[in-house]
Amino acid sequence: MDTKIWLSSPHMGGGEMKYIQQAFDENWVAPLGPNVNGFEQDLEDFLQNGAHVAALSSGTGALHLALVLLDVHAHDEVICQSLTFSASANPIKYLNANALFVDSERDTWNLCPNAVEDAIKKRLKTGKKPKAIIAVDLYGMPYKINDLRSISKRYEIPIIEDAAEALGSTFKGKKCGTFGDISILSFNGNKIITTSGGGALIVKKKEYKKKAVFLSTQARDDAPHYEHTNLGYNYRMSNICAGIGRGQMEVINDRVAQRRANHDFYEDLFQEIPGVTVLKEPNGDYFSNRWLSVITIDPQSAYLTREELRLALHQENIESRPIWKPMHLQPVFKKERYYGGKIAESIFNNGLCLPSGSNLTDDDRSRIAENILNTFKKVMV
Ligand SMILES: *Cc1c(COP(=O)(O)O)cnc(C)c1O
Repeated sequence: MDTKIWLSSPHMGGGEMKYIQQAFDENWVAPLGPNVNGFEQDLEDFLQNGAHVAALSSGTGALHLALVLLDVHAHDEVICQSLTFSASANPIKYLNANALFVDSERDTWNLCPNAVEDAIKKRLKTGKKPKAIIAVDLYGMPYKINDLRSISKRYEIPIIEDAAEALGSTFKGKKCGTFGDISILSFNGNKIITTSGGGALIVKKKEYKKKAVFLSTQARDDAPHYEHTNLGYNYRMSNICAGIGRGQMEVINDRVAQRRANHDFYEDLFQEIPGVTVLKEPNGDYFSNRWLSVITIDPQSAYLTREELRLALHQENIESRPIWKPMHLQPVFKKERYYGGKIAESIFNNGLCLPSGSNLTDDDRSRIAENILNTFKKVMV
């Protein structure tokens, strides 16, 4: 059997160990220290736009804190993209608030602005105003930033940008992770850069960063003993993990270029295959980091379903994966409301994520191409 080709595996840059060694040498083995500050600075320099960054232990924790900072409480309602990873939505339920799941549009696969507005109007009629909108840059593709921002302004509902998958993506030249009233990133092992596990919360005001750091370090008031006025969380990033992050930030631009090259490879490959659509950037304003290369397969014209292709690749030890199953179809969220049609559901039914690691070799790509072409050839005769 050939070696396994993974969907997206960690890819170290080489500089990580020097930061970790330094942390050991100075005994900064704690959820604070020079690497945490340094990593935050690296991210702020990269994101620009006056971003203030708090490095945290996960993207999920960052979303939880974002909701806390926006004063979301039990029985409040939060709009959330349905087509996403469950971590976008879980923190809503941590707070015993309710999710209003909303459908996607076809151009970016992200929140459909019309469906968002419809959801807001319907809830306003019942006297309930959603407290926040969680908008995701899925697979690295920026959502319809301008449309959602104008809805957010019109109804005065803040946006939480879930940019967990989109570090290095831009819209009109500005970095994803700076478009929300609060934005979040993830550095989980499968993301474009990793700290083994970690996340970040991004805000526009220094006071909000201070508050996020305060809450993420158990909300200790200023006193010699342990005094707490607020509910605290243990969500700060460790100085060791931040050391990995600093090494990874040295190569972030290479990682974006490598992932985008994978996407170009798939675009060429599928040019000749009927029924397969590669997700495109809608226009020149959109620049995706192409965290994962994603396609949809129309089984009518391809004579093949996405599941048949997935299983054929699996046979050859090549990992691919269905698109995220929409949250409104998940058993755990069966009591939440849903607004929209069947776009997210149809992307899930026909969509596939292909091997997209920045560490894929030319040999890997040849093997992938050969197996994909063979699979389609078999059904085309
Ligand atoms: C990975 C991911 C998260 C969660 O990040 P963790 O760091 O794994 O907690 C949230 N939202 C999306 C869209 C993700 O892909």
